[in-house]
Amino acid sequence: QAKALGKSRYVLFNQDMYASAITRLQLEVDLRRAIEHQEFQLYYQPIVSLISGSIMGFEALLRWQHPKRGLLAPGEFIPLAEETGLIVELGYWVLFQACRQMQAWLVSYPQHSLEKMSVNLSAKQFCQPNLIEQIRDILLSTGLNPNHLTLEITETVIVENGDEAIAVLLQLQELGIEISIDDFGTGYSSLGRLYSFPISVLKIDRSFINPMTTDKRNLDIIEIIVTLAHKLGMKAVAEGVETQQQLAILKDLNCEFVQGYFFSKPLPSSDAVALIAANPQLC
Ligand code: C2E
Ligand code: MG
Ligand code: MG
Ligand code: MG
Repeated sequence: QAKALGKSRYVLFNQDMYASAITRLQLEVDLRRAIEHQEFQLYYQPIVSLISGSIMGFEALLRWQHPKRGLLAPGEFIPLAEETGLIVELGYWVLFQACRQMQAWLVSYPQHSLEKMSVNLSAKQFCQPNLIEQIRDILLSTGLNPNHLTLEITETVIVENGDEAIAVLLQLQELGIEISIDDFGTGYSSLGRLYSFPISVLKIDRSFINPMTTDKRNLDIIEIIVTLAHKLGMKAVAEGVETQQQLAILKDLNCEFVQGYFFSKPLPSSDAVALIAANPQLC
């Protein structure tokens, strides 16, 4: 009787599983090949100072130039890279590449206001026992001064790693690296503990910025986060700024930095360097 009952369901389930397993397997094979064949590329999005109006830094954002599927955004492959652990290798490549690029820009444009290269760190990467060692190696071999590097981590990474997270953050701070909390406001940070973490920047999530001019609640939240940052001795960055109106309000709120399509989309290195060379007054 089990046969009659289970047969059709078994087949359906099996086909679904099979299809998604094949897709995942294919993607995983692709990912491994992509690392070997250097199909990854970093794009750079400017972070603008609201105080000076010029570019303070860039955030490095990963892209995959897939031979068949074209340019892929991280949303399409980072989750699988996380699951399979390939993110560790990929993350190392990102850090190295971003530090090398930053150092090259600093050497080429010594008079520029350029201060920081921001690099996203995944949860798995953050938990690598040799993270500090790897970062130290990368800084040494690229010649980048650690005070030009900002690492972006999410609230979840800290919440889920408790005291060990503090230990890692303290070591990074000791090296002179700045820590920024990415997508702030969407996680579950304990405000009390936030105070004790060596964090320099709160990066307000794009989901609050987008509706800020149409929904008062979002504006209130942004104001609260900026105030919180300042009370804790941190700076605030607004991500996803797309309009002049948003920009004006953020300036009024004394938010220090802004990033978004209003200024520039993430750019390939050649376009980013042109922007550095032009050094425009952006606001
Ligand atoms: P994130 O770190 O919060 O990066 C900001 C994302 O918002 C980027 O998407 C950026 O292109 C997008 N963005 C910036 N300004 C605007 C705007 O004005 N409007 C809109 N609609 N979007 C804007 P992207 O490049 O697709 O990256 C998505 C996420 O993938 C990142 O979010 C980050 O969490 C992750 N990611 C990217 N590169 C890396 C990496 O090298 N390593 C790791 N672990 N994660 C990465
Ligand atoms: Mg980020
Ligand atoms: Mg972000
Ligand atoms: Mg985000």
